[in-house]
Amino acid sequence: MNFVIRRIRKETVRFEKKGRPGNIKVGILIPMPYSAAVNSLFFQTSYEYINSLEGAVAYRYVYDVKNDILEALDMETNFNSLDAILISLSFELDYVVLARILDKLGLLHRYKGYKKPILIAGGIAVTSNPLPLSGIVDAVVIGEVDDILEDLVYTVGEDNPLNHLENFYCISTLPIRDRVRRCFTKDLNRAPHSVNQFYDMDEEPVYGYGMRIELSRGCPYLCAFCMEGHIQHPFRYRAMEVVWRMIEKGLGNSITKKVIFYSLALFSVPFMDRLIEKLIENSIKASLPSLRVDHITKERLESIRELGQRTVTIAPETLVKSLACSIGKCYDIGHLENIISESLRCSFEHVKLYLITGFPKLDLNEEINEFKRILSKLSWVKKARFLRIVLNPLIPKPWTPYQFLPPAAVLNLAENINKYYKEARKFTFVRIESYNHKWAFAQAVIAQGNEEISDLIINWGRYGFSLNGFYRALRSLNKESTSFIYHGWEELPWYKFIDMGLPIDYFKMRYHYLIN
Ligand code: SF4
Repeated sequence: MNFVIRRIRKETVRFEKKGRPGNIKVGILIPMPYSAAVNSLFFQTSYEYINSLEGAVAYRYVYDVKNDILEALDMETNFNSLDAILISLSFELDYVVLARILDKLGLLHRYKGYKKPILIAGGIAVTSNPLPLSGIVDAVVIGEVDDILEDLVYTVGEDNPLNHLENFYCISTLPIRDRVRRCFTKDLNRAPHSVNQFYDMDEEPVYGYGMRIELSRGCPYLCAFCMEGHIQHPFRYRAMEVVWRMIEKGLGNSITKKVIFYSLALFSVPFMDRLIEKLIENSIKASLPSLRVDHITKERLESIRELGQRTVTIAPETLVKSLACSIGKCYDIGHLENIISESLRCSFEHVKLYLITGFPKLDLNEEINEFKRILSKLSWVKKARFLRIVLNPLIPKPWTPYQFLPPAAVLNLAENINKYYKEARKFTFVRIESYNHKWAFAQAVIAQGNEEISDLIINWGRYGFSLNGFYRALRSLNKESTSFIYHGWEELPWYKFIDMGLPIDYFKMRYHYLIN
């Protein structure tokens, strides 16, 4: 079977822009299945935006993981006719999928060199540490692309685009030689945002149908484990009038009267309560992201239910009071218990609770005792599986104070996870799921990797996307390349190449505070 197939879906929107000879042809690749890829606002926005530019045409590609097939959603299936491929990578494990795709297309940078199509990757994971992508893509964008997207498209249309790409201060070819400064969009109101969003009418997206809206970027809380909060700093939000105009325009094309908000700190947006009221008045449904405990009130819970949301998602991350405030998640445990009770009264079907285990110096018994305590306190809840616990191991990510922990720290967390399961099983109103600590370890290895880890990524892509494939690829690396995995870095490699605009001392000082 062919690796690339053209798959024309029954979509809400498709730009049938006829490419002419001489047009700039830009591929947009999201290495995920279609139903997940459509959640990417970069995917939605860049497709609409590039097609709106004179002399430029965009073609979309997604990856069907199950069948190992690359789907071309528009006309173009010949990658060699493209000027560039823009690739969005939010998670470190996406690098492995990308490496497999490029390898199969014969486009891995290590074999293709800097010939067209120029492969340019960006996204949260890439911004934090692009080094493991060396040998895989040609160039990376560090930070936010909104303000440079137009110039970037016209630049890749030139004959020797690489000569010009490094004129963008936040773009670097790989391997990186000089320090790259992060781009960030000062005024979100002027940043492009798609309003004509595409979905397959026969395949519901992962977060359901509805118009995706990015309300804000960054987060004022800078929680100690949170990479997004740090690398998207500072907190910015769109004006309410701008958001409302987008909603009015976008819902005209949408198949449901529903918006799905993207925001790291939704109720830090000052007009959020007013916006919710307006949505309710106009009978528009909405889906909200996970919320901080201290942001939830009884009134807000009622409004969220009125918006049609059936599950309320809360992210306390820890139940241990002494730790909560130091990591940036200060809240009152009694308030959390009240929210859970109140959610049942408001007829929510579920409360979803995000927890993290593995904070250094936190006694596991203390953690489990707090867990037991809250479950016993709520044991009067009779609704089966009402409380859904999502337990994640702490993954030490670059640009967080926990970046000084070695990836192997994650491997010690199997016992923690088992203890949580043991307690949760005693109550029918609780359901627990957790992210496998070995996958978390693999993620940490890539997140903290340097250029040499690109060998692991490429080999893992070849062996297949399983844990066996990861360990096999890991074994093929020499001892020196893997020493950081067990002992941490003496000098963090990403510090040398990325200027995130954050004071470097802050990370070390906060880490010492947290572990003492
Ligand atoms: S509140 Fe959430 S998004 Fe903001 S820094 Fe903390 S964990 Fe990250």
